Amino acid sequence: MIDYKAYFTLSYGLYIVSSGDRNTGNGFIANSVFQVTADPPRIAVSCNKNNHTFKFLEKYGLFALSVLAQDASPEIISDFGYKSGNVFDKLRNHQVIYGETGVPVISADCLSYMECKVVQTFEVGTHVIFIGELMHSVMLDETRKCMTYDYYRNVKRGAAPKNAPTYVDKSLLDPVKKDNINFQSYKCSVCGYVYDESQGDESQGVMPGTKFSDVSDLWKCPLCGTGKEDFE
Ligand code: FE
Repeated sequence: MIDYKAYFTLSYGLYIVSSGDRNTGNGFIANSVFQVTADPPRIAVSCNKNNHTFKFLEKYGLFALSVLAQDASPEIISDFGYKSGNVFDKLRNHQVIYGETGVPVISADCLSYMECKVVQTFEVGTHVIFIGELMHSVMLDETRKCMTYDYYRNVKRGAAPKNAPTYVDKSLLDPVKKDNINFQSYKCSVCGYVYDESQGDESQGVMPGTKFSDVSDLWKCPLCGTGKEDFE
């Protein structure tokens, strides 16, 4: 038996992984990034094959990794976490700098960035793991704290998008409690944030147990700022 509550205690950082060159490219928010070796410094990134950034990773063999800050703007999270580069040019809509390797880097709302050259790949079903060797890294802002997946889930109350390796269908989580108490959940169609009636939204003074229909029409998604009408 898999207890998804236990599974969710695994935590990670949140990063923007980007690839491409000065003319084209894309990026996405990944939480499945980790250091594999210290000498030489190598970092692994898992990317869904359907992700628009995947083809840039394959073609350029380079990626940048920007470490997201805890206070990252809702627009950054919404655009890089929940929109597809197939239909939305993320790099043209955000401030981009170019690293020493020429790769596009998102620097706003990030503490630091690293540029890596792909030295190995592993096929893992829906995803490919890219092992990158660190070529260049820059500290951007030492005063900000990094956003962890745990912080994002529990404080920002965000959900993993469908292409993320950590995505789990929410109906698998505690279905008994949901049926017994008759609280419902409403999902933001823009960013995936879930308003859970049993928990309310403390960040905007909405008490636990508040029905979504009773939440003020002025209430906005705490993650991306969209209105109630975009929840389903
Ligand atoms: Fe939202």
